[in-house]
Amino acid sequence: MSIELKHVYKKFGNFKALDDVSLKIEDGELLALLGPSGSGKTTLLRVVAGLDSFDEGQVLFSGRDAQDQKARERGVGFVFQHYALFRHMTVFDNIAFGLNVQPGKIRPSRQEIRAKVMELLNLVQLEWLAERYPWQLSGGQRQRIALARALAVRPKVLLLDEPFGSLDAQVRKELRAWLRRFHDEFHITTIFVTHDQEEALEVADRIVVMNKGMLVQVGTPEDVFHNPVNSFVLSFLGNVNFFHCRLEQGKAMIGDTALEVPGLSVDQPQTAKLYVRPNQFKISRVFTKAALKAIVEYVNPAGTIVKVNLKTIDSGERILVEITQEEFKQSKIRKHEKVYVSLKDVSYSEYVQDDP
Ligand code: ATP
Repeated sequence: MSIELKHVYKKFGNFKALDDVSLKIEDGELLALLGPSGSGKTTLLRVVAGLDSFDEGQVLFSGRDAQDQKARERGVGFVFQHYALFRHMTVFDNIAFGLNVQPGKIRPSRQEIRAKVMELLNLVQLEWLAERYPWQLSGGQRQRIALARALAVRPKVLLLDEPFGSLDAQVRKELRAWLRRFHDEFHITTIFVTHDQEEALEVADRIVVMNKGMLVQVGTPEDVFHNPVNSFVLSFLGNVNFFHCRLEQGKAMIGDTALEVPGLSVDQPQTAKLYVRPNQFKISRVFTKAALKAIVEYVNPAGTIVKVNLKTIDSGERILVEITQEEFKQSKIRKHEKVYVSLKDVSYSEYVQDDP
């Protein structure tokens, strides 16, 4: 089932929650909606689900206008952050619920329902919990049961609103990987809301970055990470260092230091903002003119990469640099040392209009 939104607008009073949203989600795609709090992710999901109306535009399911279809008729399954499992029902009955309430004509037999529920429990690898109640489960188990319940009625579309939001980091990671495997096997068209960039980058086929009710960028994880359309997307997708500078003949003047900026040339001197990811710096102990002088404030080697926090001597700006464990072992960088920081690359630059 493909889904298409064409020029969708939605206001709450005077507030534009969705502002000219056009987007096509391909059949079988896993799409992440990523954005800060209040950017309109849930509103977009609810509009797709048919739970909320909108003011202008069109929502199409497999090319057909879904205007007249209610949520139930759209074949949509939901999982929300705050798992709303029925407290008084066992896990088995929770999953069976959607099937049990189907009209007599289409409702499967009791044996068929039992077989289906056990198949779903097997899928989420929790068969052994069938007779438990929701309050006897861990958060991660509850989310997997919520997913099994959403799948029971064979949805054509899965809408997941921060499904792992309330879980601890380790469980989130496991469920993320599980969701990706699940999706690779079943290919149900899925829209997944998150404000966690790591989650979106790891799980999704494509990412939609939202801000203030608008789509800022749509692309593969690789694309949005490496080719951000603006500094908002860049900063939202990971740590970045930021400098005001003046660009002159391939060099960035930061205070009195002229840094070499690979691949950047300007015809005329320009005031600019430079955005540099932490792995795009080189740290050296050897004096170089084209480098910022800095003091190491803190080194954190716990992790797959080593984080080095620095403060520039001239301007007191703070810089985060990431180096590999190997580079760390070789350089043996220590706290309080004076070092020279130069650029390997720049993630993004923006020209700033000079005051007339
Ligand atoms: P979060 O990550 O915090 O869940 P979100 O990106 O999902 O945020 P939405 O829930 O879509 O954001 O809300 C978008 C904006 O619309 C917010 O500013 C919110 O306050 C506003 N909004 C949402 N629902 C309503 C409502 N029923 N009435 C008025 N304003 C609303």
